[in-house]
Amino acid sequence: MSENASKVLDEVLAANREYAESFGDKAKLTMPPRRRFAILTCMDARLDPAKFAGLEEGDAHVIRNAGGRASDDAIRSLVISYKLLGTREWFVVHHSNCGMETFTDDVMRRLLSSSLNTSSVDEKGWHDSGTGPGSREAEYIDWLTIHDNAQSVVDDVTRIRRHPLVPKSIPIYGYIYDTRSGRLEEVPQASEAGRAA
Ligand SMILES: [Zn+2]
Repeated sequence: MSENASKVLDEVLAANREYAESFGDKAKLTMPPRRRFAILTCMDARLDPAKFAGLEEGDAHVIRNAGGRASDDAIRSLVISYKLLGTREWFVVHHSNCGMETFTDDVMRRLLSSSLNTSSVDEKGWHDSGTGPGSREAEYIDWLTIHDNAQSVVDDVTRIRRHPLVPKSIPIYGYIYDTRSGRLEEVPQASEAGRAA
C-alpha cells in the first residue's frame, strides 16, 4: 500500500478535506431524521438518493443493499428507524436495468465456486475465469435476485407491511427509479399493499 498508494483513497480523502472545510452548521444536526422518512434502495452507483429525492444531511434515513431488497437486515434498519429515531413514512425504490436481474442464485453459486475473481458478462450471461480457488459458501446465501422488477417492489413492500415489528400506521410507498430519465415511477400495486391502516 505504501509504495502504491490507492488513487481512489487519495481522491476520497482530498474530497473529504474539502467537504469538512465547509461543514458549517451541520455539527448541530440531531440524530433523528428531520423529515422523518426512510428510503430503502439499491446500491447501484447510478442512483444518488440525496439527489433524486432532494435530501440534505440530517433529512432522512437511506438504507441500501444490492437490489434494495427487504432482507432481514434491511428490516432491522427500518425497525430501528421508526422505533428509536421516529421515521413515519418509508419508500422502497428499485430501479430499471438493475444488476440483480442479470443472475440467479445458481449462477452466483457457480461463479463463486469457480473462483473469487471478478466475473465478466456478455450477451450469453456471466462467465468466470475459473482460475480458482473458489468457495461453495455461496450455497448458504440467498442472493435475493430480481426476476420481475415491479413484482420485486410489490414483494418487498408486502414483506415489510406484514412484518410483526412494523406498525400498521407507517405508509410504505413502492417505486421504480428509471435509470434513463431519473424519474421515480410508482408501482401502484406496491403502494396499495403498503397503505397505512
Ligand atoms: Zn440495482
